[in-house]
Amino acid sequence: MKVDDLIVGGGVAGLVAALAAQNKGRKVLLVDSADHVGGLLSSIQHASYTFDYGTHFVSATGRPNIDEVLLSSVTKEDWLKIPHVNAGSYFKGLHESSTVINALNALDSDTLNKGIGELVGVLQNSTLSEKYDNAEDQIKAVFGDVFSTHILIPALEKLYQVPASSLASNAQLLFGLSRLIIANPEVSKALKELPAFDDRIAYHSAEEGPKSPMKYYPKVGGIHQWVDQLADQVGKECICLGQSVEQLQYQGEGIKARLSDGDVIEAERLVWTLPLFPLLRMTNSNWQPTGKPQFLSTQLMHLVIDKAPITSCHYVTNYDPDFKHFRATLYSNINHRNDHRITVEVFTQDPLSVEEIFNELVETGLIDKKSLVLFSASDFLPISFPVYTKDFLTARDDMLCEAEKLPNTLLLGKARGDQFFMNDVIIDAFNRVT
Ligand SMILES: Cc1cc2nc3c(=O)[nH]c(=O)nc-3n(C[C@H](O)[C@H](O)[C@H](O)COP(=O)(O)OP(=O)(O)OC[C@H]3O[C@@H](n4cnc5c(N)ncnc54)[C@H](O)[C@@H]3O)c2cc1C
Repeated sequence: MKVDDLIVGGGVAGLVAALAAQNKGRKVLLVDSADHVGGLLSSIQHASYTFDYGTHFVSATGRPNIDEVLLSSVTKEDWLKIPHVNAGSYFKGLHESSTVINALNALDSDTLNKGIGELVGVLQNSTLSEKYDNAEDQIKAVFGDVFSTHILIPALEKLYQVPASSLASNAQLLFGLSRLIIANPEVSKALKELPAFDDRIAYHSAEEGPKSPMKYYPKVGGIHQWVDQLADQVGKECICLGQSVEQLQYQGEGIKARLSDGDVIEAERLVWTLPLFPLLRMTNSNWQPTGKPQFLSTQLMHLVIDKAPITSCHYVTNYDPDFKHFRATLYSNINHRNDHRITVEVFTQDPLSVEEIFNELVETGLIDKKSLVLFSASDFLPISFPVYTKDFLTARDDMLCEAEKLPNTLLLGKARGDQFFMNDVIIDAFNRVT
């Protein structure tokens, strides 16, 4: 079979690449080893209930050329339009309207005042754009010792599960740990007029900040409906499921790939959206990895309870090291249906019991302790969030540098390893293909 683009990996990066290439008139074949497309952007069916792989919304990118191609299905009637996602966070007390940690709740007034004094002091000596050896040094230089040691570093280490001194600078951005709430709404707003404070202080509510792009979620069921729709747009005849690339040969102006079922595909260009390990192993027998990027494993605990949650948040991020879970998605707060489904994400190798997770949701004020669990199921993702250590970034950069030498090869999504959030992956994939 001959195509213009052989796209390997049918997660959102591969699907977007396929649509962008087709838009340019190119003939594509998308290959995925699973029996469905979507990758991490999928839903799971347990009994009659649908759950997603953690918190996922479809979001406008704000780029009309991309949104026109990707959002045609979600603007229809069976999708909810969500102008503001009601996100919350927990750190020594629930803060309901922002994912940012509220230092006013977390610290006693003496410590808070000391922290504010330090922050004003460090503002004169440090900038966010300076180079720092590691995340701990960066956070201390940018926020001072009090906010770092009482809030930001414990939260960061709870999530990444490695010392902050081993993490690369900016690793905290993956979990939104870039700003704190340190004053009341009016004072915060006034301080944010000054650029140095704006970089460190958050609004109390996301609604006070710049308008965020429209989000979409299905009225019934889960987020997989969007990827299914994207797959329909690509065309079933252009998608090959349950297959991986076993052999690759670069020849002349193109590539020749042998799939696991023995089919040979000739393509002008290879679009690789998977981690680079297998690609480099297949294409360069002399290549030796300088390190192995590390990822967190995630337990997804799905619950259905008989009572509505007692928070109105769509999802709540838990930064508190005294609790094991990372985030809870409360579907009935999003779609206002009566089945109170919840997905809880826990970064762990040792799955928690239903009882442990239930107790954490009660203690952090998300559900009533008298709620009954009507249904529960658990899934495990061995590879989920990247652990951005200094070693991770070195290994990733070395692999990228090696893979970029390959002719007629476009590296997207997981292959680049520098984007994790869906919209960043989408925008980058679309732009690189077109
Ligand atoms: C628990 C969790 C929570 C998340 N929360 C958020 C969030 O809140 N906001 C956000 O923006 N993003 C979030 N993300 C990230 C987001 O889902 C991913 O970054 C995005 O979906 C990645 O898309 P991708 O195409 O790069 O990779 P993937 O989704 O990993 O897709 C890779 C595809 O390649 C296929 N594949 C694997 N090996 C082979 C092979 N050898 N041959 C062929 N095919 C292969 C897989 O089956 C898969 O379909 C979350 C992710 C997880 C896991």
